[in-house]
Amino acid sequence: MDEPRRTGRIEVVAGPMFAGKTEELVRRVHRAQIARREVVVVAHELDTRSGVGRVASHSGLEVASATAGEAGEIPGLVGAGTELLAVDEAQFFGAELVPVLVRLADAGLVVVVAGLSVTFDGRPFSPLPELMAVAESVTKLTAVCTVCGRDAAYHVRVPGAVPDEGDALVPVASHVGGAESYEARCRRHRSR
Ligand SMILES: [Zn+2]
Repeated sequence: MDEPRRTGRIEVVAGPMFAGKTEELVRRVHRAQIARREVVVVAHELDTRSGVGRVASHSGLEVASATAGEAGEIPGLVGAGTELLAVDEAQFFGAELVPVLVRLADAGLVVVVAGLSVTFDGRPFSPLPELMAVAESVTKLTAVCTVCGRDAAYHVRVPGAVPDEGDALVPVASHVGGAESYEARCRRHRSR
């Protein structure tokens, strides 16, 4: 009798900046490693906040990672024995990440993918909405509003916090490394 095929799945961890998404991703990776499952962690090459070769949360949890410049490179980073694939900062990969991760889950991989669900101006941030739609599990995290302390589903750019940078021209993808120039905000305090 054939060996039963492993059952793949997609688990999404989504939210604004400062919600602890990477920490949750790293937590799931550590659990899988304790269970001696073969894990591959992928970061985008533009995400250099933690330094190349590792993914780290604000609170200091970290794990070794491989780097990809585009979604199409991810299957090449997955080995024959890989059981869990973790992808951080999914928004860097854009819409092409969705079919790539669906194919890998169809083939039996457990895929944990974390990323920003909203842009700094409060719009849904592809590909997180699409990934949430096709996932088995979605964990939507909130941050804490820096004005009032309520749950924050948004983050905003703080005026004047980005020195010498043409303000409106900075592309959405430039969330890279700029944590100090954004703040988490609740629905009430997201517009200034
Ligand atoms: Zn608030």
